[in-house]
Formats: sequence, C-alpha cells, structure tokens
Amino acid sequence: MRGNVFSGGTLDRAAGLRRDAQALAQRRKDPQSLFLPVFRNQSLVRAIENGYEAAALSGEIAAVETVFLGLQDGRAYFAADVETESLGEFADLRQIGSLLPRQDAAMLAYARAMLQWHRNHRFCGRCGAPTVSEQGGHLRRCSNPDCAAEHFPRTDPAVIMLVWSGEHCLLGRQKPWTPGMMSTLAGFVEPGETPEEAVAREVWEETGVKLRGVRYHSSQPWPFPGSLMIGFTAEAEGRPEPIVDPHELEAAAWLTRAEVLALPALPRQHSIARRLIEDWLDR
Ligand SMILES: [Zn+2]
Repeated sequence: MRGNVFSGGTLDRAAGLRRDAQALAQRRKDPQSLFLPVFRNQSLVRAIENGYEAAALSGEIAAVETVFLGLQDGRAYFAADVETESLGEFADLRQIGSLLPRQDAAMLAYARAMLQWHRNHRFCGRCGAPTVSEQGGHLRRCSNPDCAAEHFPRTDPAVIMLVWSGEHCLLGRQKPWTPGMMSTLAGFVEPGETPEEAVAREVWEETGVKLRGVRYHSSQPWPFPGSLMIGFTAEAEGRPEPIVDPHELEAAAWLTRAEVLALPALPRQHSIARRLIEDWLDR
C-alpha cells in the first residue's frame, strides 16, 4: 500500500546523537551540515519541474531556534526557525504537500512540526517559568530548578473516517470550506478512549449515525500544527438520515460514487481524507 504524503521520510533520526551536546555543536558548525529554514510556518523551497523541492542551506544561519532532525548521507540536517524572508521562496506545506518529492514533504513536515512545538512551549505548563531547549531540540526543560519539568514534542492523535453503507458513503462539510466541498468526518481522540472508540463517538456526535464495525486504513503525520491523522473505514448500521451537529458541521449526506465524483470540490490531493475517498471510489 502506498504511504500518505508527509510520511516516508528517509532521514536517520539518530536519536543517540541528541544527547551528545558536543557532537551536535560540531555538526552545527560543520559546513557539510544542512539547515531547513522555516519562516512563520512556511518552508523554504525551490521550484523544480512540475513542483518544488526542499531548499536546504549549508552553513549555520541566524535562527530563533534550531532542531537537530537527523542524518542523511553522512550529513546532519537541522530545522531553523528564521525571522527573515530574504533567504528565498517560502511556501506553506498545506498548499504544496503533493508537489514535493515524498521524502522532502516528510522532512519539511517534521521540521515544521518541531519548530511550531518550540514556539508554543516557551514556558513551563507546570510552573510558568521559561523553558530551555535540550537534546538537539527534542526536549524543553523548565529553567526553574525547583520544578525542572521535562516537556517533549507533542503529537495529537486524531481520527478520520470514511463511513459507508452499501453503495453510499457519508461525507460532511464545514462552513469555512470551499463551496460545495464535502469530506470525511474527523475529530480528535479524547483522553480515555481508543482511536476506534473515537471514530464511533465522533460519527455519532456529528451525524447521529451508529457504526457496525471500524477498520484501520492508514495514517498520516499532519503538522498543522501537530496531529497524527489515523484513518479508518467504518460500516454504518443501516443508512439513517444524518442528524447534523451544527457546532461541528454545516451539512452531512449519504452519497453514491457518481454523486461524489460530481462534487465541485474534494479535499486536497495530499490529504488522507482524499485518499480515503479515492480508495472507496475504487473499491
Ligand atoms: Zn516548571
């Protein structure tokens, strides 16, 4: 099965090196090392035929934060949160995810998610003191010695599901979306439940539809800002008229394949939502 966009990274994350501050300092100064600049959540890219590639700069650059990402072909890769746009062309991965080589999309997603986590965790959630980056940027420690809490990069699990019944699938839409666009239902996993339970709960809350069975499909890192999308297909009990929760959705409907194909817009090509819909269309 082909992987989803933003997965399939080829970097060796070299976790052992994160704890070796001296070796990392040398790598930072090494002219062979490469830096992936991120400016306000936009990634530095270079246009190539039919798309873009990650633009990595050699030599240390001025940055608010750098994170050691890993090694490839003997070279160290760092993410660098920069404050200047002057380095080249910056683009939003959310827009160009499918236009990048697979491994570049994965590496830039990793870089973006790490830097955004740093930006949002400058203070300790336990005592409020400033935190300090350690382990190449894979840990932030509280600077208050009486607290010294360790904070690790977060990944928030979310479920996304293609609900089907016979020859129909259940899609919904949210108000801010492109007119006419419909997509799969989705939601965050809450404390104290499994992803499968979250699927059943979200479908019930958003549409009043009960499920007969839930089956894992595939997953996707989704660094907007730091989710892991866990994709499922789910068979509904019958095909009841959806009762939409207006706080969650503007509309929901059971659609045939022909109706899905006739929709004015579908989720972006690189999203797992699109993948779930396309796999159902092909089934
Ligand atoms: Zn603290």
